[in-house]
Amino acid sequence: MGRDMSISTNGQTSERKSLSELAPLEAALFDIDGTLCDSDPIHFHAFRELLLEVGYNNGVPITEDDFVEKISGKHNDDIGKTLFPDWDPDKAAKFLDDKETMFRSLVPQWLKAVSGLHKLCKWVKDRGLKRAAVTNAPRPNAELMISILGLTDFFHVLVVGSECERAKPFPDPYLRALKELNASPEHTVVFEDSVSGIKAGVAAGMPVVGLTTRNPEKLLMDAGASLLIKDYENPKLWAALEEIEKFLKRNEPFAQLN
Ligand SMILES: [Mg+2]
Repeated sequence: MGRDMSISTNGQTSERKSLSELAPLEAALFDIDGTLCDSDPIHFHAFRELLLEVGYNNGVPITEDDFVEKISGKHNDDIGKTLFPDWDPDKAAKFLDDKETMFRSLVPQWLKAVSGLHKLCKWVKDRGLKRAAVTNAPRPNAELMISILGLTDFFHVLVVGSECERAKPFPDPYLRALKELNASPEHTVVFEDSVSGIKAGVAAGMPVVGLTTRNPEKLLMDAGASLLIKDYENPKLWAALEEIEKFLKRNEPFAQLN
């Protein structure tokens, strides 16, 4: 596999990185919402209910298209400015805090791992790869979801967007993960499900596998995804991992951490 030259929506030619160029693979970075788990329906439910309570959109419930356009994958500061351009920032922050409280109350019952996630995590762990979760979610949400998915011991590092200078779609959270893991972007793969997240991973110099959990394929490809998969059972993903593994076995002993 070589580099795929693609035309972006603004007519510019851009280079899309190929997974096969990653060998020897050193690290795997995962977004959380929509990437490890299908949490958007829970976020959508919480936003829809609380926006109705405050009379947003003249009392008309937001649609899934509204959610994809204005909310999915974005940091709360940006969501607040988009939803409530005329509100006092403190009032918007309080609304978003209430939404996160409602989200966390629903997570234990509703959160489901993306199919094949634990198989991929085992593959990553068995090869001693470095691993981080990199999210725009608030830290309490991130820690709760990781815990419910049984991955608290899996991740070496958790990077939270609001604790960086700039959240996704800026590269800062991914650059911090690389730094904390002491990993090279040349040998690190990113898993993401949103336009904002894919842009952040690409801007940090890494190929991004895009999960089509909720967001439209075209938007994810235009954002620069190297490969789109519905879930971690996808044969193309496993074929790419096997290619990378052949290279590992031929050239490099597995680097075991700890
Ligand atoms: Mg996401």
